[in-house]
Amino acid sequence: MKVFEKAPAKINVSLDVLHKREDGFHEVEMVMAMVDLADRLEMEELPRDTIMISSQAGYIPLDEKNLAFKAAKLLKERCGVKQGVYIHLDKHIPVAAGLAGGSSDAAAALRGLNRLWKLDLPLSELQELGAELGSDVPYCIAGGTVLATGRGERLRALPPMPSCWVVIAKPPINVSTADVYGRLKADQICDHPPTKQMIDGLVHKDWEVICRSLGNVLEEVTFGLHPEVRRIKETMLRLGADGALMSGSGPTVFALAAKSSRARRIYNGLKGFCKEVYVVRILT
Ligand code: ATP
Repeated sequence: MKVFEKAPAKINVSLDVLHKREDGFHEVEMVMAMVDLADRLEMEELPRDTIMISSQAGYIPLDEKNLAFKAAKLLKERCGVKQGVYIHLDKHIPVAAGLAGGSSDAAAALRGLNRLWKLDLPLSELQELGAELGSDVPYCIAGGTVLATGRGERLRALPPMPSCWVVIAKPPINVSTADVYGRLKADQICDHPPTKQMIDGLVHKDWEVICRSLGNVLEEVTFGLHPEVRRIKETMLRLGADGALMSGSGPTVFALAAKSSRARRIYNGLKGFCKEVYVVRILT
């Protein structure tokens, strides 16, 4: 038997850090949504008690370090599953980009294997397991537009982002999430994003308010390390984006556009100097 799962990328339309906690984690407040740029996982039963993983992407670990592998191992151990599984990962989400590709793969593996192994665990239990793999995994299990607090694992569903175009540009730079958080001086942030205003915008489906409320406190850290990320954002706005923001710790920047003609113009304008550019839809 075989099952398939899609693993969509996430974007942060708002990312705030409230303070650094005593356990070393940052207390965050993030509004997240999903886009239809997705990896695809194929999971097939193996008669042997083993986990195998393959992918067409040569630039991710294909052993026990892969997050989909880790998810399968965790579920197998916790539920006492004796069958094995072969996971094929068709990778499309840029890696280490701030789009939670690995977390979404882990979430898709948990959802898919829950079906393949007929475990029937409720989403809430999958989310608890997912939290052991990474802060973004619980969100990626259920998706939608949410407010995430705590380390990012406490979720509150919000009204969906209005249907729109999202132009995603990933410059060829490696950014370490741990390094960006490490450089952030959480007690010195003066420009917090207006999270409440963003939520009001979503509640009232007010596109202008949503675009005006985009904000990410990690931008200044990543912009300081890599000025080209700021230039991509500025270019998107110059090309007519309704709003633009860096996602997560970067280096990916996304532009929002209500009109497809605008999205196309931004795409064409960026394509010349950024190799990885995508035009996708928000998942509502
Ligand atoms: P986040 O937004 O959650 O910080 P990200 O988009 O910045 O995540 P990922 O694409 O998830 O980053 O990759 C982070 C690291 O995880 C990479 O260095 C990669 O080698 C490793 N990794 C492990 N499993 C996977 C996977 N299935 N897909 C992508 N990367 C993976």
